[in-house]
Amino acid sequence: MAFDVYEIRRQFPILAREIDGNPLVYLDNAATTQKPQCVIDSLVDYYTRYNSNVHRGAHRLADEATQAFEGARDTIASFLNANKREEVIWTSGTTESINIVSHGLTHYLSAGDQVLVTELEHHADLVTWQQVCHKTGAELLVAAIDDNGELDIADFDSKLSERTKLVAFPHVSNALGTLNPIVELTQKAKAVGAWVLIDGAQGIAHEAVDVQAIGCDFYVFSAHKIYGPMGIGALWGREELLKEWPVWQTGGEMISSVTYQTATWNQLPYRLEAGTPNVADAIAFGVAIDWFKRLDRQAIEQHEASLLDAATAQAEDFQGLTIVGKSKNKVGVLSFLLEGGHPADIGFLLDRQGIAIRTGNHCAEPLMNRLGIPGTARASFSLYNTIEDVNALFEGLKKVKMMLE
Ligand SMILES: *Cc1c(COP(=O)(O)O)cnc(C)c1O
Repeated sequence: MAFDVYEIRRQFPILAREIDGNPLVYLDNAATTQKPQCVIDSLVDYYTRYNSNVHRGAHRLADEATQAFEGARDTIASFLNANKREEVIWTSGTTESINIVSHGLTHYLSAGDQVLVTELEHHADLVTWQQVCHKTGAELLVAAIDDNGELDIADFDSKLSERTKLVAFPHVSNALGTLNPIVELTQKAKAVGAWVLIDGAQGIAHEAVDVQAIGCDFYVFSAHKIYGPMGIGALWGREELLKEWPVWQTGGEMISSVTYQTATWNQLPYRLEAGTPNVADAIAFGVAIDWFKRLDRQAIEQHEASLLDAATAQAEDFQGLTIVGKSKNKVGVLSFLLEGGHPADIGFLLDRQGIAIRTGNHCAEPLMNRLGIPGTARASFSLYNTIEDVNALFEGLKKVKMMLE
């Protein structure tokens, strides 16, 4: 299975776009990835041929929709090496997945308990636990990073105790690209009896994930950052927790039997999936994962690492540029500052040349404050990026620099 990036690119119609006469150079993959034609086709095919509500049909279309929908769940379960397919819950994305877990956790937290997160947290993971702590009287502790954006393991250790009920951390930081040692962190948290949630929104597209080998309790991610559609994501959680924790929303599908005064809950996964689900996007999510699984993972990892290495080398040679986030283990992201230019200006001036990056605090305002900066310009790489994209970024930055002077 050779990896040919130019062949891959042909499968992504959007990459052929031009922006004011410039070829699109898409380097905002940490915000969302583009979709291959097979994912786009899957959405059209669903609405063209077999749109139907699932699980309740007495007809052919309902059967076909249900089969494809539940088949997609199998695809996600096997991709994560989940013990059981029932452990995969459809959500609208990482944010909703974390909120479902936090809703359940609220039931088990009280004053005196602690929740441990890290300084790297995305707002979805930080604000959610922060608010759970406000509500329950539990205390939120935050494990420190060093100036390179690498987690301070000694500080993490010192903040773990029998009082820790939950530990949450990103697999990969969306702002800095830091790759956390998730197995080591999980083992430490488990040693004090804490539950572990891993925010896999970035990690899932770059690193192989085996939830049983990691040993965590929850792993959450969004389809749209791994070549699937927006509006769908997954919560993987250990069955014994998901089947006991309080239900999230109430309504159709999630019930077993109902009277006017009472109700009992359905089995997993349905007890956490109230109402008509996002069928088309779940199916297309499965198609995206099937597509991704057929590629040579080792070749992808090498390719993405070579892009980041090349970008880092050029950044280090670039006068007036400072790289933000220099952890030893890093994937997918080059965050930087340019002397004399606000990140927003850099983004604007690159966009005029067809180069798409992200600027700002990357949903990590406290992290930017910790680093003493207002935000960064961030280029983020995907398997369909090329060395030409990296070169275009730095050619573009040279022009930006001239324009700023
Ligand atoms: C994107 C992202 C989220 C939020 O994902 P949504 O798809 O917006 O719900 C959370 N954490 C990290 C690390 C992210 O990159």
